[in-house]
Amino acid sequence: MPLLTDRFARTHRSLRISIVDKCDLRCTYCMPEEQHFLHRDKLMTRGEIRTLAALFVGEYGITKVRLTGGEPLMRPDVVEIVRDMAALPVKLGLSTNGMRLHLFAEKLKEAGLQHLNISLDTFDAERFRQLSRRDGHGRILANIEQALELGFHVKLNMVVMRGINDDELLRFVGLTQHRNVHVRFIEFMPFAGNKWGRERVYTYAEMLGRIGSVHAVEKLDDDPHSTAKAYRVKGWKGTFAVISTVTEPFCGSCDRLRLTAEGKMRNCLFAREETDLLTALRNGDDLAPLVQANVWAKHKMLGGLPAFQPDTQQEVLHGLSTRPMVSIGG
Ligand code: SAM
Ligand code: SF4
Repeated sequence: MPLLTDRFARTHRSLRISIVDKCDLRCTYCMPEEQHFLHRDKLMTRGEIRTLAALFVGEYGITKVRLTGGEPLMRPDVVEIVRDMAALPVKLGLSTNGMRLHLFAEKLKEAGLQHLNISLDTFDAERFRQLSRRDGHGRILANIEQALELGFHVKLNMVVMRGINDDELLRFVGLTQHRNVHVRFIEFMPFAGNKWGRERVYTYAEMLGRIGSVHAVEKLDDDPHSTAKAYRVKGWKGTFAVISTVTEPFCGSCDRLRLTAEGKMRNCLFAREETDLLTALRNGDDLAPLVQANVWAKHKMLGGLPAFQPDTQQEVLHGLSTRPMVSIGG
């Protein structure tokens, strides 16, 4: 099967594959209180994930794969899936909440995983309980340490929310002083059922202002397709970055495609339309026209939603996809 178009090959390099829609946490910004999970036979099998990933890599120019969820470490065959992905010529990463990392860390390393994104929104155990509606904060902190000791390239992802955890911003930046840690501050994004409000978004400009009022900060070069704007406190070992989806979206240079856990292809985090590749694969259909149509239908900005400004809040909330973040795969 030939490359769809040169444009496709140039502009879509990264594939996020959600391998399960379940999660052992219930973060308020990600999962509605009443969330129904897919039956196991609706999920892509290990073999189907391998087939679809190999197709995207071999035929459509994908060079980066990130496994995500839900919580990917909820899937019993995650190590085998990682081993399959590591056999492809891609930069491979996995996003996790870190809760079950101690059960898998060494095996994941041995299977070929090098890049781990671990979510951490707070250093306060009680705040963690409120945000994630579960216990386990101490376990996650210990597992982050273990990941660093094992030599994983670790990025810590913090969703910064006004009045919830923005007071911890500088403590997170402090992590980068002596250690080779990369902290990424994510603006709070709207998804179905997450009670988003524009006033809750602690903005990129506010983050830089707060950090810059205390530290001398230098801008680092960003990869042309990076969604994160990278910085370093001068002389410090690690780096920090901001993902400014709400106040400064980067749709023009975004090179990501997504597959949900039940094999639906999405061309944007905020897409309202998706393409059922798994059913087509199971039926033995030609996937090329489906993939092509999905890519060509991509909206210019934010999946066709209006800009996430205070005056468009109602329009944004009204226009959101019915999928919560937990079942999209961030
Ligand atoms: N369970 C894994 C985890 O927590 O890292 C992987 C899936 S999670 C959906 C992927 C990323 O999406 C996490 O870094 C999480 O913080 C982020 N995320 C979820 N909801 C978000 C929201 N409303 N705004 C910004 N980031 C969000
Ligand atoms: Fe689960 Fe990750 Fe969503 Fe939290 S952010 S509910 S850990 S999928």
